[in-house]
Amino acid sequence: MNPTPQIAIIGGGLAGLTAAVHLSRQGKSVVLFEKNTYPKHKVCGEFISNEVLPYFRQLGLNIESLQPTHINKTSISIQNGKSIAAILPLGGFGISRYQLDHYLYQKAIESGCEIIHQQVNDIEFSGDSFSIKTDNNNVFKVEIVLGAFGKRSHLDVKLQRNFIQKKSPWLAVKAHYKGNFSDDLVELHNFEGGYCGVSKVEDDIINICYLTKYESFKKYKDISNFQSNVLNKNPKLKAVLDNSELLFEKPLTISQISFETKKQVENHILMLGDTAGLIHPLCGNGMAMAIHSAKIASECSIDYLNGKINRKKLEINYTNQWNFNFKSRIQTGKLLSKIVLSSSLSNIMMKCLLLFPKLLPFLIQKTHGKPIQ
Ligand SMILES: Cc1cc2nc3c(=O)[nH]c(=O)nc-3n(C[C@H](O)[C@H](O)[C@H](O)COP(=O)(O)OP(=O)(O)OC[C@H]3O[C@@H](n4cnc5c(N)ncnc54)[C@H](O)[C@@H]3O)c2cc1C
Repeated sequence: MNPTPQIAIIGGGLAGLTAAVHLSRQGKSVVLFEKNTYPKHKVCGEFISNEVLPYFRQLGLNIESLQPTHINKTSISIQNGKSIAAILPLGGFGISRYQLDHYLYQKAIESGCEIIHQQVNDIEFSGDSFSIKTDNNNVFKVEIVLGAFGKRSHLDVKLQRNFIQKKSPWLAVKAHYKGNFSDDLVELHNFEGGYCGVSKVEDDIINICYLTKYESFKKYKDISNFQSNVLNKNPKLKAVLDNSELLFEKPLTISQISFETKKQVENHILMLGDTAGLIHPLCGNGMAMAIHSAKIASECSIDYLNGKINRKKLEINYTNQWNFNFKSRIQTGKLLSKIVLSSSLSNIMMKCLLLFPKLLPFLIQKTHGKPIQ
């Protein structure tokens, strides 16, 4: 390992890897800890808002080299199959996490970041620096720690974060399929107790990913029964599933997905991406937020390391900028998910959208940001 890195990033998903590229390219010495190896499939809808593109270009990242799909249309259906279509105000692209995370990992290494494939088990702060302990009982000392360990990690338990004390009712299922689906479209279909996103990624692959309450799922015991009995009640979603052939051996699942409010700084660690707060996936903006939060944390950290601000100001600046950029998006996402998950409210919403079609692009804008410069 390089002599005493300045910054440690815990977690090499989108937030951690983007921060690794940013900081390394600015000449900071960075070590990133990731417990898994690349490439790896992740549960995610894999639709990314175009708002990330200017920032990716600044970092020298060429998304086009991964041949993503370009998505500029959306269609939303409620449980009875009634639907409405709209043009996406900013648009987005479809790329699998298998490709994207692996690409960013390679770029982080090229930029000079050291990546250690070990799980971090503990982070202690004392005397204005951090000690990081990994599962091999290795200890690393650094000046700044960026927490990018995702939605839920045993580090949340270790840090006694508030949200981890509450059980979360959500679980998610994702798989890749082949079949007929437009390259330029992202669909959102509502079913009882949840919603499902459908869009294309690279190589003509369809991503079908849904979020549901565990209570709705547990009656059916397995994914196939659940899909036949619940998802298929929405005729639009049934048509998609009937015409798609599973490419994975079996769908991937994750549980205990929490949408509780989290703190952006805990134990002096700046939290990035889902570690700082998760927006409801129906907004299709979690990845852009993770990437944007990496930019904000990197810029604040550089100011600190260059002696422009002290640690207190670092933490205040990061929290303020995080709230300014993301707080209202997350709140709008919470409200929309409540509406979508209630069949009476979603019926009313559909009637309003059909009467005032401009409302849909307006709501989409409310859950997205501007291009990240
Ligand atoms: C069902 C669902 C669908 C979604 N669909 C979309 C979508 O279509 N569009 C969109 O923009 N967003 C979507 N999202 C949100 C998006 O997936 C997340 O916001 C995004 O993955 C956040 O990235 P991250 O880097 O914060 O976390 P992650 O990508 O989860 O990365 C965290 C990393 O930390 C590592 N890690 C954890 N603990 C440790 C440890 N102790 N030591 C070392 N490593 C550790 C993990 O292995 C992991 O690689 C969806 C989310 C869900 C749940």
